[in-house]
Amino acid sequence: MAMLTRDFPGSEIAVGMQLKHVATRALANRTTAGYMVKDPAWAKHLDDAIAERRFDRLKELFAADSRGEAIGFGPGADRMREAFAAVRQKAEELRATGQAQRGDIRVEDSLLRRTRFSIRFGKLNHCTMNDDDPSGAKCIEDAIVPEGHRGPLLDRCQPSRCANSILAPEHLPIWKAERASLNRLRDDTSLPRNRRAHLDAQLYEVNLMIKKVEQ
Ligand code: SF4
Repeated sequence: MAMLTRDFPGSEIAVGMQLKHVATRALANRTTAGYMVKDPAWAKHLDDAIAERRFDRLKELFAADSRGEAIGFGPGADRMREAFAAVRQKAEELRATGQAQRGDIRVEDSLLRRTRFSIRFGKLNHCTMNDDDPSGAKCIEDAIVPEGHRGPLLDRCQPSRCANSILAPEHLPIWKAERASLNRLRDDTSLPRNRRAHLDAQLYEVNLMIKKVEQ
């Protein structure tokens, strides 16, 4: 991957996708390191730890959204904001009817947990695909899904086109850097036509991402 990035500057995004995939595969190997045999207890421990970490980050996003901060762009972010608004509204109702105490943040936490909002955090985008309802997930369109696999195929992620994708503010600098890098490469007048067409296609996808912020 390092060699590819060196030889084809501008491919950082593709490499990032691959790294996300590699990390997922590493975590998906539910074996104990010592004996390399399947260990259901270890697998459950790992799943629980990942779910808790995801929930912690979801709570951070909820708090940021409640403070009026921008938490993301794109259709996935719109759905997340709607889910957060519903949680806040329900919490208010519970407090108004005396079923919950004012100032008790655990009310929101508990409602948030019950929404079971699915989110996978990534370096280039976040994915909100619901494993029980994968409709609209671009990565599994026309894909051969391995037997027993649930959830997105991260190495086929199409963040610029998928309704489940969230572009978070922390992702934006990476996409802008990619756009600058691609534009620099396109300035080379000696580029072969097919290489230029490839760069143009990459640039188009990158611009689709950046436009989500400007919409
Ligand atoms: S294509 Fe969509 S569903 Fe698939 S990994 Fe990317 S954001 Fe998630």
